[in-house]
Amino acid sequence: MADELTPDELLDKIDYGTDSGNWLDTTKSVQIRPGMYCYAAKPESVETLGLPNARSWNPTEEDWKLPDNWQQIIHDGIKERLERFRTFKIFMDVCVRCGACADKCHFFLGTGDPKNMPVLRAELLRSVYRNDFTTAGKILQKIPGGQRLGGNRPLTLDALKEMWYYFFQCTECRRCSVFCPYGIDTAEITIMGRELLNLLGLNIDWIATPVSNCYTTGNHLGIQPHAFKDMLEFFVEDIEEITGVDCTPQFQKKGADILFITPSGDVFADPGTYTCQGYLILFQYLKEKYGLDVTWSTYASEGGNFGFLPLMKP
Ligand code: SF4
Ligand code: SF4
Repeated sequence: MADELTPDELLDKIDYGTDSGNWLDTTKSVQIRPGMYCYAAKPESVETLGLPNARSWNPTEEDWKLPDNWQQIIHDGIKERLERFRTFKIFMDVCVRCGACADKCHFFLGTGDPKNMPVLRAELLRSVYRNDFTTAGKILQKIPGGQRLGGNRPLTLDALKEMWYYFFQCTECRRCSVFCPYGIDTAEITIMGRELLNLLGLNIDWIATPVSNCYTTGNHLGIQPHAFKDMLEFFVEDIEEITGVDCTPQFQKKGADILFITPSGDVFADPGTYTCQGYLILFQYLKEKYGLDVTWSTYASEGGNFGFLPLMKP
C-alpha cells in the first residue's frame, strides 16, 4: 500500500505543458500507447451487427486491413452526414478555438495529452473537412505553408489512425458542450467520427461485443436465458431465508400487467444485485396489495442506456 501514489502525486506526474510540434503533421506515426487504447472489435461481433469489413486486426500493427478505397468511403461518409445533419455542418464550421472546453474533459485531465482536449479531438475531423470540403481549404492546400495556416490536412492513414485512437477516448458525457460559448457538442462530433470509422470496420471490442450480445442473447453481458433465470431464483432463496417471504418471479408471462426490464448488471453484478432483490420484494408487494402481475423476460433482458448506439447503423 505504501507504494501507491496519492491522487495529488498522480496528478503531479501528468504533464500539461504545450507541445511545440505541429499537431497537423501526419508524417510521424500516431503513438498508440499500450494501456490507453481499446482492443479491436472481434470480427464475429462486427458481423453480427451487420457492419462492414469484419476481420481480425490489431491497432498496434502497421496494417489495419482496410479496404483499398477506404479514403473514398470516409469522404463519401462525411459528405452524406454533412447533408443529413445541420448540427454536424455547423459544428465543423463555427469553432473559434477559444479553448473554453479544453480543461473540461476528464480524458485530458487524466492524460495531459493535448489531443484529448475536446477542441483538438474535434479538430482531427475538422482539419480533414476543411481540406476536402471548403473552398479556403482547397486553395490553401496549394500554397506552401497554407495547410498550417488554415488548419487543414489531407486524410492520410495516420490521420485516420489518430481519429480512431482519440474518438474512442471520449465517454460522450457532453461536459465540454456545457462550457462552449457556441454550443458545440463534441460528443456529437465523436459519434459522427465513430460512425465514419464503422464504415471501415474500425470499432472497439468494448462496444461491438456488448451490442452484439444484445442482438444474440438480449443483454450486453451475454447472459443466457437459463443463467438469467437461475440468478433470480438464487435471489429468491436469499430473500426467503431472511424474510420468510416467497418472491418467486414470473418469466415470459403473456398478458401480464407489467413487463419489467432492468439493466443486466442488476442481475449479474454487485451492488446491482441488491437493487434487484428490492425489485423482487416490491413486485411481490404489488401482487399481494394491488393484484398487479409483473413478468420478467429472459430474452428482453437489457434495460441499459444505449441511447446513441442506433446511430452506428450504416
Ligand atoms: S469551447 Fe467551443 S468554440 Fe471554444 S474551442 Fe471548444 S468547441 Fe471550439
Ligand atoms: S463529451 Fe467527450 S470530449 Fe467532451 S468532455 Fe465528455 S469525454 Fe471529453
